[in-house]
Amino acid sequence: MLGDISFKRIEEEREDLIKAARKIWENPEPGNLEFIASDTCAELLEKKGFKVERDYAGVPTAIRAEYGCGKPVIGLLGEFDALPGLSQKDVCHKEPVEEGGWGHGCGHCLMSPANIGALIGLRDEMEEKKIKGTVVFYACPAEETIGGKGAMAHGGAFKELDVALCWHPGRYNRSSYSFLTGANSQIFRFYGKTAHAACDPHLGRSALDGVELMNVAANYLREHVPTASESTTASPTGEALPM
Ligand SMILES: [Zn+2]
Repeated sequence: MLGDISFKRIEEEREDLIKAARKIWENPEPGNLEFIASDTCAELLEKKGFKVERDYAGVPTAIRAEYGCGKPVIGLLGEFDALPGLSQKDVCHKEPVEEGGWGHGCGHCLMSPANIGALIGLRDEMEEKKIKGTVVFYACPAEETIGGKGAMAHGGAFKELDVALCWHPGRYNRSSYSFLTGANSQIFRFYGKTAHAACDPHLGRSALDGVELMNVAANYLREHVPTASESTTASPTGEALPM
């Protein structure tokens, strides 16, 4: 759907988009505490005429905004959480703003503003060409740590979508790349059974043994069994990519 009309509009929005990205870069926040980033994105969207749902799907820093109506429903997923120990000034050598502080080591400051740019551009393109469909932007917290998208999905997010698109900063442009961008966590409980350690140890069941065996088994699973969406994690030149 992105075409000349979108690209022209995105170019016109350049200054505001960069300003938002810079504000997120200068205020790196841990997962689920991205209140400045969330407000920055919401305010930018509102300034551009979108109605914003804050505290979306029961996740305090998640937001949602949309344009259009009917099918298909296309999702644009942005992130904005930072990483610990990666505090950095905007210089080409390592120089933290605050030693050991949080920082945007892999460019999450760019992801939501860029998707907002796409939403603004697509609004013009769809209006002008009378294209049917809905584009939804979601700001998704806590990608780096505890999986904000899982919590959002639990709260009802994404069900409306036909397809979800996201992007990540890197060293070159490439589509058709497959990353794990969201995961649900799972709680396992292990229960033991007591027995006399001297007389009948074989009658006992150690919950810790269960934990240890599962840990070993899960490691073998990861090492030897590909997931359904297994993809290469090497660049076209064969080098490993930073995630
Ligand atoms: Zn990242």
